[in-house]
Amino acid sequence: MFDRLIRATAADGGIRAVGVITTHLTEEARQRHKLSYVATAALGQAMSSGLLLASNMKQKRSRVNIRIRGEGPLGGIFVDAGLDGTVRGYVDNPGIELPPNAEGNLDVSSAVGKYGYLHVMRDVGYGDPHYSTVELVSGEVGVDVANYLVTSEQTPSALLVGVFVDSEGVSASGGLLLQVLPKATRDETLIKLLESRVSKLSGFTPLLRAGKNLSEILEELLGDLGLVIFPKTQMVRFNCKCSFPRVLGALKLLGEAELKDMIEKDSGAEATCQFCGEVYQASEEELAQLIEDLRSESRLQH
Ligand SMILES: [Zn+2]
Repeated sequence: MFDRLIRATAADGGIRAVGVITTHLTEEARQRHKLSYVATAALGQAMSSGLLLASNMKQKRSRVNIRIRGEGPLGGIFVDAGLDGTVRGYVDNPGIELPPNAEGNLDVSSAVGKYGYLHVMRDVGYGDPHYSTVELVSGEVGVDVANYLVTSEQTPSALLVGVFVDSEGVSASGGLLLQVLPKATRDETLIKLLESRVSKLSGFTPLLRAGKNLSEILEELLGDLGLVIFPKTQMVRFNCKCSFPRVLGALKLLGEAELKDMIEKDSGAEATCQFCGEVYQASEEELAQLIEDLRSESRLQH
């Protein structure tokens, strides 16, 4: 099954539900960044969260950035997700591994750390992005993002994200976002009902691994509440905006002296994209061409 996102409503439009499967893109991130098990779980959960958060934005070019900075050994997590279904991300220390927690699960909370900050940026694509920051409450990515939605965006929300990874790679990853919309936010019983249903689930990946698809999972949760699933399924994928011309542009900014140094000492340059792990090689000739460009640009300016 392809990675995908579906949207739905229930309770006469009082509940907004989004489900996303990110199994393949989390496996791609694992391979690109050589992530440990616990780093795969943390980044996969953060990427699912980013796609779920971006899914309710209106403008076509809207993007959400999630930055998590905890005191744990994983360091920071960064995710950039778009309403268009593209997502990319990385963690500072991809190789760290921790023993499983008391429940036998990957210990994302200890890897991230319970103290620190979660920053969210929402950008509709026309400049003037909106930033907000909340303190971490658990180190579990889903719990912290849900806390952000409730405290910062003041939308009663339940968020469930999960990743199942073993020596074979990622076999299940994705999540669910259930939100009580403004017209129903004073409906305490509806909010309580959603909370109790989500808390009864043992996680998102067990449902996927049991062979259920997104529609079936939503049907199980909200089927008796007038669930309406939107017919359009959106594909989601790992995608980075980096390219060789962009890398050359960045190298050019280093200036002639630095470029000459790279030619003489390293016979070229190697640059790795932080966001996707792609490695770019610039040859001696390409660096020499950049020096040429810099010289002709400065001649033009004089
Ligand atoms: Zn990249």
